[in-house]
Amino acid sequence: MEEWTVEVEHCKSPKEKPKTEELEFGRIFTDHMLVIDYTEPVGWHDARIIPYQPLTIDPSAMVFHYGQSVFEGLKAYYTPDGDIQLFRPEKNLERMNRSNDRLCIPQIDESHVLKAIKQLVHMEKDWVPTAEGTSLYIRPFIISTEPFIGVAPAHHYKLIVILSPVGAYYKEGINPVKIAVENTFVRAVKGGTGEAKTGGNYASSLKAQELCAKQGFTQVLWLDGVEKKYIEEVGSMNVFFKIDGEIVTPSLNGSILEGVTRNSVIQLLKHWQLPVTEKRISMEELYQAHMDGTLEEAFGTGTAAVISPIGQLSWEGKDLHINNGKTGKVAKALYETLTGIQYGKEKDPFNWIEKVTETETIPVK
Ligand SMILES: *Cc1c(COP(=O)(O)O)cnc(C)c1O
Repeated sequence: MEEWTVEVEHCKSPKEKPKTEELEFGRIFTDHMLVIDYTEPVGWHDARIIPYQPLTIDPSAMVFHYGQSVFEGLKAYYTPDGDIQLFRPEKNLERMNRSNDRLCIPQIDESHVLKAIKQLVHMEKDWVPTAEGTSLYIRPFIISTEPFIGVAPAHHYKLIVILSPVGAYYKEGINPVKIAVENTFVRAVKGGTGEAKTGGNYASSLKAQELCAKQGFTQVLWLDGVEKKYIEEVGSMNVFFKIDGEIVTPSLNGSILEGVTRNSVIQLLKHWQLPVTEKRISMEELYQAHMDGTLEEAFGTGTAAVISPIGQLSWEGKDLHINNGKTGKVAKALYETLTGIQYGKEKDPFNWIEKVTETETIPVK
């Protein structure tokens, strides 16, 4: 790619920033967004930061019909020193390219896009909330924009990055949730798109989510799509169990989304010299562990919640109460260490943190 610059057009009337109490997830967006176009044969070009605004897209644009799109999710954190920092952002861009590959979307230049994202976050630094547990959520996504309703990979795309100040996930402290093991619907199958972060996986998961919520559960535990025996994920998080002192998580099998948090949890546990294993785990085996009294902890992992302890699992009419419905020791230690690193309150022995600093001069329109 030739010389990389990001053109900037400043918005004329900045919005009022929300108060801490008004922060929730994903309803408020900042003043600017990043847009990069892709056309053939030029490739990705015309990176620009422009005022946040609606898009004008042809109704025949392919994304509306066949769902050729991918997205990512990461956060910018405000530290006690007044810095703004990202957590392993290169992992998200690597994953975006793996998702792109699966969805036949052209590869992006990960380091260029990361640089542009950092420019955007730096421009919007006053939007990073400072209260405990709050952050600026970063949502990069790519849509196919070619006006054509034939079924084929598109030739035109837009990569867009929007930012949303979000409130603390745990406003009243961490509380373990009730989960229903899903026996009817499946999230993904091997060979499908489960490994890719793409909207279609979410669209197909809504029905199960809606039904379990009606029965008083927070989320479902997804089983494998073929035999419905093996554990895959919880809601839109990866899942871990502590069984008889060993921490286990389903191995990446082609239908599980590889979380950045999952990877970080595995690395941390190894660093602490706790036994951690990636393996195939059946629901039957988990139930047996519960009956034997060796199922000690269960928790989900993902960027939004970081760690989400599971207090109860319901499976085929049986209720498995885990750790008396309390947050386990390992879950708590992981939560505290990971958030400590993310918010710059703890040492970062793994070099996971990337500061967002003043960048080189950017041409201003
Ligand atoms: C995004 C996502 C996760 C968690 O990934 P993180 O990188 O840890 O946020 C897990 N499962 C699914 C299905 C996801 O979409």
